[in-house]
Amino acid sequence: AKKVGGNRVERYSAQMNEEALHRLEMDSHLRKAVEENELFLCYQPIVDIHTGAVKATEALVRWRHPKLGLVRPDEFIPLAEETGVIHEIGRWVLRTACLQTKRWQKMTGNDDLAVFVNVSAVQFQHERFVGDVKQALRQSQLPPSCLHLELTEHSMLRHLPSTLRTMDELRRLGVGIAVDDFGSGYSSFHYLKQLPATILKIDRAFIEHLHTNASDEAIVKAMITMGRGLGLETIAEGVETVEQLDRLRDLQCTYAQGYALCPPLMAEEATPYVAGVRK
Ligand code: C2E
Ligand code: CA
Ligand code: CA
Ligand code: CA
Repeated sequence: AKKVGGNRVERYSAQMNEEALHRLEMDSHLRKAVEENELFLCYQPIVDIHTGAVKATEALVRWRHPKLGLVRPDEFIPLAEETGVIHEIGRWVLRTACLQTKRWQKMTGNDDLAVFVNVSAVQFQHERFVGDVKQALRQSQLPPSCLHLELTEHSMLRHLPSTLRTMDELRRLGVGIAVDDFGSGYSSFHYLKQLPATILKIDRAFIEHLHTNASDEAIVKAMITMGRGLGLETIAEGVETVEQLDRLRDLQCTYAQGYALCPPLMAEEATPYVAGVRK
């Protein structure tokens, strides 16, 4: 502890200990979570706005904690990044999502069905990351063109030179790269031009008031136009109403994802959507 004076130091260090202890505890729980099959994936359909066909799903990780119940990724991913468990979790997510998608391809005969997998910045920086992707593809026999990795603009701009190298390598494999939460960070056009991305996912903050706010509509329209100019497809995230869906169709957005179409579902529940039996 710092040498400040009297009680303050003790309280400070006691608090630090408690925090460190809590973290250690959560960390060991998280480690066990992977081993003890407490993690599972939900899948949310990504739909072609014009045809209504399911193009892909986004895999979203969940943790069923024996005592705490269901823990959302926003709560445990940051901790997993801090402690390094993210690499194990990320590998498990990649492998599971690829295997499930291959299973759906065989089941439905739709060989183009793709999957979007979230990748954290820490995971992406790891020297083994491209190897992990290759291994998941090999194990599952999923074609590389059916795998899209989602990175936020923020994580892409961290360590830009090494990120660009890794992105190039993944592109050469044939894997797609989506810019997640596009518009929510600080990326400039200067960077966007350099990134070998294939898809923009428009952040739901811009979709929320799309049909009532002229500025949001202008921004979304500009994003879609710019995307097309750069050869990028666009996915609108967090589409909650039919009105938003109709506006996005008018604006020539390619794909949509959100509660208006389908919430994230367990694999078995998602199967009829993926098979096109239910819409
Ligand atoms: P994200 O990548 O932006 O994922 C979209 C989030 O929005 C998901 O929350 C999804 O359930 C939710 N969502 C979907 N449709 C709607 C809608 O119409 N309205 C609203 N309000 N929300 C909607 P979720 O599953 O809790 O995931 C939260 C975040 O956790 C994700 O944000 C992503 O950044 C991260 N995450 C999820 N799975 C993974 C993973 O496997 N690996 C990593 N590194 N991060 C993950
Ligand atoms: Ca995402
Ligand atoms: Ca997102
Ligand atoms: Ca997000």
